[in-house]
Amino acid sequence: MPTAAAKKPQAAPALSNDRYAAYPLIKTALPGPKAKEAIALDTQFVSPSYTRGYPLVIAKGFGLAAEDVDGNVFLDFTAGIAVNATGYCHPAVVKAIKEGAESFQHMSGTDFYYREQSELAKVLAEHTFGGFERRVFFSNSGTESNECALKLARWYTKRQYVLSFRGSFHGRTYGSMSIGCSKAIHRNHFAPLPAGVVHGNYPYPYRADPHLKTPEAVAEDCLSYIENIVFKKEILPEEVAGIIVEPVQGEGGYVVPPANWLKGLRRICDKHGILLIYDEVQSGMGRTGKFFAHEHWGVAGDIITTAKGIASGLPLGAVIAKKEIMSWPPGSHASTFGGNPIACRAALATIKLLDDELIENAREVGTYFKQRMEELAARHDTIGDVRGLGLMLATEIVKSKASKERNPELRNKLENAAFERGLLILGCGENTIRFCPPLTVNKAEVDKCVEIYDEALKATK
Ligand code: PLP
Repeated sequence: MPTAAAKKPQAAPALSNDRYAAYPLIKTALPGPKAKEAIALDTQFVSPSYTRGYPLVIAKGFGLAAEDVDGNVFLDFTAGIAVNATGYCHPAVVKAIKEGAESFQHMSGTDFYYREQSELAKVLAEHTFGGFERRVFFSNSGTESNECALKLARWYTKRQYVLSFRGSFHGRTYGSMSIGCSKAIHRNHFAPLPAGVVHGNYPYPYRADPHLKTPEAVAEDCLSYIENIVFKKEILPEEVAGIIVEPVQGEGGYVVPPANWLKGLRRICDKHGILLIYDEVQSGMGRTGKFFAHEHWGVAGDIITTAKGIASGLPLGAVIAKKEIMSWPPGSHASTFGGNPIACRAALATIKLLDDELIENAREVGTYFKQRMEELAARHDTIGDVRGLGLMLATEIVKSKASKERNPELRNKLENAAFERGLLILGCGENTIRFCPPLTVNKAEVDKCVEIYDEALKATK
C-alpha cells in the first residue's frame, strides 16, 4: 500500500484558486506522517474489501485542489469517482447544504411530503431527454437506483428476465450484482445471485474482432447476438422485462459505443415490448457534455438511473421513469433515507450550476482535453487508445500500439507515479486510466494534468 520512499519535496506549483495559492504542491514524502497514522487506523478497523490504489488521506479541498492531512495539495482528476461534479466546496452547493441543515435534516419522504423532494423530481423529469411525462423515485446510491429499476421493470411488464452486458458495472447489492459483469471478484463466493439475468456483448471497437471493419459493424454484431443467440437459444424475448445498459460503459473501461448501438437496442426493445433502461450513474449529470449521455445519440430511455454526481457528493440517487411505467401502488417500493432534504437541496444547486455553465464547460474543456491527450498518445507507444465524451475521458494502456496487449501493471504504476507528482487519477477496466474531473475544470488544469501524466509515463516506461 504505502509506496513511496522519502522523496524530495516537489517545487514549481502551477495553479491557484480562491483558497489555494498553489497546487499541486507536494511537501512531504508520500504518504506523509499523518497520512501513515490515518492509514494504520483504517487498516486496523475498516473493511479490507475497499480497493485503495494509492495512499491519499484527504483532509479538505476547494475546486480541483485536494489537500491531504499533511498539507500536500493534489490536482484531483477523479472527483471522488465522478461524484464531485461541482468540485470541492462549491460556494453555491455549500450554501444550499447549510440552509438545508438549518431547516430540517430528515423527514422520511416515503411517509410525508416536503418540497425539496417534489421540486427536484420536477427538475429531473424536465431534464430527461425524450419529451415524455416522467416520475421519479429517490434512493441513496447508484446500486439502489438500479435495484429500483429492476423491480419497476419486472413489476410493470410482469416479465422475469433482464438482459445486461458483459463489462458493465451496476453496483454491489444482490440485484445489481446479478446484472453486473465487469470483474469476477465482485461475485466471488457471493452466489447464489438472483436468477433471471442474461448477458450480451457491449461493443468495444478498440478490442473487437478485426474482421469487423467499422465501429458500426461491431455494434451490429452485438445487436445480432441478442436477437440470434440470446433470444433464440437462451430465452424468448417475450419473457424479457428490460435491457439495462450504460450509455458509456464506466467501470468496464470508459468504452464509448458506436453511433448505431443505442438506436439498435431501442429497435429491439420496441419490437419485443421490452423496457430500455439506461444506467447513467457515472455518465450522467452533465459529465459527457449533455445532461444525460444517451442524449448524444438521441435515443430516449424508458427508465433512467442516476446517482454519483447528482448532489455534488451528498448521497442521493434517482430513478426517472415514464409516468405510465412508474405507476406502482403505495407500499411496492420505498426508502427511509432516499431523497434526503439536504441532499435534494444540494442536487437542485448542482443542477442549476450544470445548466448555467458546467455542461457547456464539460463539452468545451472535454474537447480540449481529448485533443491534448491525443497529442500525448502520439508520443507514447503505451497509450493504445484515447476515448471518451466530454469529461469522461480515458487512455487504454498497452505494451505497444502494434500489439495492443493489455498492460495492467503499467497502468497501476502510472496511478502511483501521478500521485507522487501531485495528480490524482484512477484506473478502470483491466488496463485503462480514467479522467473524470469536476465539471468546473479549466484548460490550465487540463494542461497541468497532461504535463504530469506525461512525466509519469516517462518515469514508468
Ligand atoms: N452504476 C454505474 C454505471 C456505476 O459506475 C456505479 C459505481 O461506480 C454504480 C452503478 C454503483 O453506484 P454506487 O456505488 O453509488 O452504488
